[in-house]
Order: sequence, then structure tokens, then C-alpha cells
Amino acid sequence: MPLFESESLVLRSYDLSEADRIVVFFTREHGIVRGVAKGAKRLKSRFGSSLEPFSTVRLQYFQKDDRELVSIQQVELSDSRFDAAADPDFLNTFAYLADLLTAMVPPHDPNETTYRMVKACVSADLRGKNELAAIRLYFELWLLRLGGYLPDWAKCGDCGQILPDDREPGLWRDLHLICGNCQGSRKMAAVSGLSRSLFVSVKRLTPAAYVQRARTEPDAVRELSGLLRHVIVNVVGREIAAERTLAANL
Ligand SMILES: [Zn+2]
Repeated sequence: MPLFESESLVLRSYDLSEADRIVVFFTREHGIVRGVAKGAKRLKSRFGSSLEPFSTVRLQYFQKDDRELVSIQQVELSDSRFDAAADPDFLNTFAYLADLLTAMVPPHDPNETTYRMVKACVSADLRGKNELAAIRLYFELWLLRLGGYLPDWAKCGDCGQILPDDREPGLWRDLHLICGNCQGSRKMAAVSGLSRSLFVSVKRLTPAAYVQRARTEPDAVRELSGLLRHVIVNVVGREIAAERTLAANL
């Protein structure tokens, strides 16, 4: 049985039995991995506090070919978010983002770009609800963009012309933007330059820079997250359960 090793983020864990837990990791080298941590519920567990959500760890596990669940051997803590995780808003936001990630990314499918994006979001210094809402939007936009689910908001979805900055294009079904010439008699909601810029700038900003930019525009952030919610439900085929807890508390 081969031994694997990878830097990983702890996403969440569940009770399996009286002594054991199932832990979901996002590993840099092997994508999402679910494993059994034997004895993790015991008071003097060898895993200590290394299985707390959103910690960065060095993970070692054995994997049998025919098993979905791996056997966790060793977890060494490199970085924790114990401080931030004391804030229920942080916990609710990242529990939702972890659920979104596991719903959209298949297990054992390595993706270095997504890993780096998620790690940068988890590590960002976030204060208050507006910053958490901004990081949520960044994460949603990135994940949907990487999956190829988002249209290009720099161009008209009908004629392909670059949309001018000084006019507000219309929002059509499937989230395409339509220029004034192509709208014809169709009734569309206008999309503000601010929302467009928040949508497009995800490509070139780090999470920290994005949060700085978006935290002063909570209404546009909320509006965009609301639009993406419909795309997410379509892509995943259901609502993300943790989103309800988040919506009730923000
Ligand atoms: Zn057009």
C-alpha cells in the first residue's frame, strides 16, 4: 500500500465512531482527499490540534486502490487559523466555501492553481463582515471561472464587441452581458460599472488586494454573490447546505 505525502488544508471533519473521525483535506498534490483519523477523538490523540478546520498541515496517508477513504498516518501542523476561527462569521463563511469546494471539485483530482487560490483565501487577514463577504465573492468567482462556468464580462455575449466602460450593458440569462446595440426590445437589468469591475478584477488581484478593493462596496458584493448563487445551484445541482447558515447570520 503506497504512502502519500502532501501539504494540505484541513477543510472539515466528521465523527465516524467513538474514537475515530473522518477528515476532509484539500491537498496540493492530490486534490480533495477524505481519510480516517484513528483515535482522533481520544483526549490524548496523536493528531493533537492539527485537524482543526483551515489549518495548513503536512499530511501522510496510505491509500488502497479500491477505497475512497484513505488511512491517515501523520498530520503535522504548519500553520493554523485558531485565532480567526474563534469568530463565528469566519467559521460560517469558510464552512460554506469548504462545502462549495468539495461540491465542485472531484476527489483525487490535483489542481495546483485552485489549491493556491484556496490557501491564499484561508490565509488572508480578514476583519468584519464586509471583508468576509468580499472573500466569499472572490472565492466563488475564481472557482466558477476555473470550472469554465462564467462568461467574459469584458465583451458583449451576442456580438463579441468589447463593452465600453461608460455605458451600462444589460444582463441576459446565463449571466451574459449584452451591449446596447444587441439588446433590441429585450428587457434587461443594467449592470453597473462597479459590479463589472468587481467581476473582472478577480483575474488579476490577490485575495488580499481584492478584499481591500471590495470591502467598501458591500451592496455590489452582495448583488454579485446573489447572481452567482443561481449559477452554483445549476452547476452543483442543489443548494450548498452551509450557505443557509451563512445567509441567516450575515
Ligand atoms: Zn453586442
